[in-house]
Amino acid sequence: MQNPPSVPIRPRHEHRGINNRLLLALPPASLEHILRLAEPVSLTRGQRIDCADQPIRHVHFINRGLVCIAKTMEDGRMVEIGAIGIEGVANLLPLIGIHTTILDVFVQMPGTALRIRSDALQAEIERDGVLRQVMQNYVRFGLSELARHIACCRLHHIEQRCCRWLLIAHDNALMDEFPVTHEGLAMMLGYQRAGVSLAMGTLAEAGLIEHRRGAVTIVNRPGLEAAACDCYREMQDELETLFPPDERAASVRIQTDQSRKPR
Ligand SMILES: [Zn+2]
Repeated sequence: MQNPPSVPIRPRHEHRGINNRLLLALPPASLEHILRLAEPVSLTRGQRIDCADQPIRHVHFINRGLVCIAKTMEDGRMVEIGAIGIEGVANLLPLIGIHTTILDVFVQMPGTALRIRSDALQAEIERDGVLRQVMQNYVRFGLSELARHIACCRLHHIEQRCCRWLLIAHDNALMDEFPVTHEGLAMMLGYQRAGVSLAMGTLAEAGLIEHRRGAVTIVNRPGLEAAACDCYREMQDELETLFPPDERAASVRIQTDQSRKPR
């Protein structure tokens, strides 16, 4: 049987090329200012955005794709602490005046971002009260997500957690098919690879996903949502409350010229 074609999906709040939830929550004047400071960049799989204990030079507003925040242990093993997609920025520490990262941040799923120099963003946050409020809400959301992630790891079944991660990946890939390996998923979930393979097999047998050659295709999205733990829905509800899209953002267009330099 042939793989079904990969179908592009539209994020619920997309406006003319801007998918990032934080940017879409800004009124046009604030958004225009931010876009003037921003530089569109590609995110390639495995690319390091920030390295632990190093200065954070840029803040990336993710526009497509997924980045992973990971803790590297003494023996070299890595565990995901959180994933950031179009709902946020990597890294949030400069938003609270911290300019050295404490964790590794790398690209898990390729995509694009708008990056802004950390010092320029901080100056803009001090100048613009609306932007400041959105960023403060994001810090709150980030802490809430971290707590949810820890609770999810402690309390929820591996199959439910796989479903949650696949839903997040689906939301940020903006395609029904995206790259993921059992090994990568095991790292991201902090679980043994054999257990992850078993869980993925169960989801495939239930007709929720297809998985081959290092890629997953979402076959039954409602089924996947029903099989996921409550953490995914909780996260979505919190995003809707904290970052309602400003419909006026529709009048602002992203400049995708890769050669444009930030001011
Ligand atoms: Zn959970």
